[in-house]
Amino acid sequence: QKEEWAKLKDEPTFSADGEQVELAANIGTPEDVAGVLNNGGEGIGLYRTEFLYMGKNELPTEDEQFDAYKSVLEQMQGKPVVVRTLDIGGDKELNYLDLPKELNPFLGFRAIRFCLENEDVFRPQLRALLRASAYGNLKIMFPMIATIEEFRQAKAILLDEKEALLKEGKEVSDDIEVGIMVEIPSTAVIAKQFAKEVDFFSVGTNDLIQYTMAADRMNEQVSYLYQPYHPAILNLINNVIEAAHSEDKWVGMCGEMAGEPLAIPILLGLGLDEFSMSATSILPARTQLKQLHKKQLASNKDKILSMGTAEEVLEFVNELIK
Ligand code: PEP
Ligand code: MG
Repeated sequence: QKEEWAKLKDEPTFSADGEQVELAANIGTPEDVAGVLNNGGEGIGLYRTEFLYMGKNELPTEDEQFDAYKSVLEQMQGKPVVVRTLDIGGDKELNYLDLPKELNPFLGFRAIRFCLENEDVFRPQLRALLRASAYGNLKIMFPMIATIEEFRQAKAILLDEKEALLKEGKEVSDDIEVGIMVEIPSTAVIAKQFAKEVDFFSVGTNDLIQYTMAADRMNEQVSYLYQPYHPAILNLINNVIEAAHSEDKWVGMCGEMAGEPLAIPILLGLGLDEFSMSATSILPARTQLKQLHKKQLASNKDKILSMGTAEEVLEFVNELIK
């Protein structure tokens, strides 16, 4: 099996009926890129930048960040790299920022909410990203977007920093796509309205599932409710994909679900464009996709979306891919 995977390392990803998708990887540091390339990654679908901020006693400088982003972009040699701006809070704490303890950290002051209130933290990251954009194919992604205003505000700050850098004579790429994570139900529900303004979506199922099912992703007592195959989740994902495609935008997924062998057929049938997963899942996924018929899976879409339980969905999909 390993040999079959290895043969596909430098191949593009096609379904059995000739439909192309992109298989990308999730990374946390520039050191992860070698593993992505060794495993046949066609891009980086999620660079979690939190690690630059964690495990130290102060904020990383703009230059430190620039070096990290540039390194990832250069190593990827023009392949797409989606960098997510700082997503702290919830399960990711930064002790040196001295943020107040919250009763519900997952519903609290985190990610883009924190960045929009702390421009002194946000702007250096955006500047570092803009400066690095000259070295590859950079796409910038904002986490935990709940409203269109948040996206507009974040994008305005980004454009403001771009203008400032150009005035300073710095080189900045002219075609940086700017997109959002879809990990809050409000955003999945009005994806159509968002699709007019963003360049792309990436579905963050890790959080989307916890917020849709109201089940803390860290709490084992409610883990039975953490159901990726629940029809509510699948309908939200479908809504995001349809919305994006109606505006000619692309949709990826960077939650754990994107690499699951049972989810891949469903997501292919729904029309997902990019699957971002841990590097070691890429070659198995490419091998699996080669055997799946997208049009056949798509023809079962309405049936799956109208099911009542995750169990029914799983039973049906297991049968379908036998
Ligand atoms: C997600 O929420 O699905 C995601 C990819 O982000 P994180 O796991 O970092 O919250
Ligand atoms: Mg998330």
